Amino acid sequence: MHVTENAPLAPLTTLRLGGPARRLLTAQSDDEVVAAVRAADAAGEPLLVIGGGSNLVIGDAGFDGTVLRIATTGFTLEGTALELAAGEVWSEAVARTVDAGLAGIEFLAGIPGSAGATPVQNVGAYGQEVAQRVTEVVAYDRTAGELVTLANADCAFSYRHSRFKAEPDRYVVLRVRFALEEAAGLSSPVQYAEVARTLGVAAGERVDLRTAFETVLRLRAGKGMVLDPADHDTWSAGSFFTNPVLSPEQFAAFLAQVDERRLEAPAWPAPDGHTKTSAAWLIDRAGFTKGYGSGPATLSTKHTLALTNRGRASTEDLLALAREVRDGVRAAFGVELVNEPVMVGVRL
Ligand SMILES: Cc1cc2nc3c(=O)[nH]c(=O)nc-3n(C[C@H](O)[C@H](O)[C@H](O)COP(=O)(O)OP(=O)(O)OC[C@H]3O[C@@H](n4cnc5c(N)ncnc54)[C@H](O)[C@@H]3O)c2cc1C
Repeated sequence: MHVTENAPLAPLTTLRLGGPARRLLTAQSDDEVVAAVRAADAAGEPLLVIGGGSNLVIGDAGFDGTVLRIATTGFTLEGTALELAAGEVWSEAVARTVDAGLAGIEFLAGIPGSAGATPVQNVGAYGQEVAQRVTEVVAYDRTAGELVTLANADCAFSYRHSRFKAEPDRYVVLRVRFALEEAAGLSSPVQYAEVARTLGVAAGERVDLRTAFETVLRLRAGKGMVLDPADHDTWSAGSFFTNPVLSPEQFAAFLAQVDERRLEAPAWPAPDGHTKTSAAWLIDRAGFTKGYGSGPATLSTKHTLALTNRGRASTEDLLALAREVRDGVRAAFGVELVNEPVMVGVRL
């Protein structure tokens, strides 16, 4: 196991923000992960598990404890059953499944970070989310002190949420198993309107698998949602806010505000009576357009939903911008935006 004392964390995050960790451990096998977690728990040491650092906002003071970076490897495909070690790079694993001609996670191409983090916030994009394909998650349960295998139904997946996110100090994901689909070189049915429009097909149709994969990568790159070290628009944590899910009462109040301004808001009704609307739309219409901000942290010039570090920002700069956007949307529409990335040692 690789150990570094007083290790800078900023280079381990896609925002390039955050102070140092007292100690950084890098684990390359499941046994090393479990040993490190057991040792930290036995010593009562604060522990932060990280993968690719693409969904983290770490405070400028850093982390006064042990940071465990999971760098395990393992990609096994048997028929349509895929098993990934937690440390596998997600975007590379997706590309390999497309090379193998299997559908199921092709619309999740280009999402940064590790495979082990994908069940944590039920990673999703362009009409797919991992919950649709995960069969089992193998994890170390810090409460029970043993390895557990959770079936999909035990993971409590919902929109950008799961049991792993609900109980953040309990599970360390070691392996994720997926059931993919052999669809004769075709993709899963296209669900997302923008993808369907771009491909010139109706929602629900299947298209050539590689075309689907490449189309998503192109759409994402156009929004600064594929990592590129040379492009500050990608020095972000992806979408900074989740799309608000409104109760019938909240949605009625929201519509009244929107109608008054003769605007038309995106609305996706859910079967349980709630309605999801678009955080990007709210931010833009509240006056925070692409590139907003004059400091070292600004909105991405390609996407209003990404808060970015232009190179010299501190975490406090980023949070000041996030608070300004959140408060502006609340004042304009009465809707409370909630951060998607995990905050470490800071609050919005
Ligand atoms: C440019 C960009 C685009 C993005 N686009 C999307 C998108 O389209 N859809 C989407 O859903 N997300 C997106 N994200 C967010 C992010 O990529 C995902 O949430 C990703 O799964 C995070 O993986 P990670 O390994 O970087 O996690 P980290 O940032 O390292 O950690 C995130 C959280 O997961 C926990 N964690 C990490 N690994 C483990 C593990 N093995 N066991 C237990 N807990 C763990 C950490 O403790 C932390 O709480 C984007 C981010 C960026 C920068």
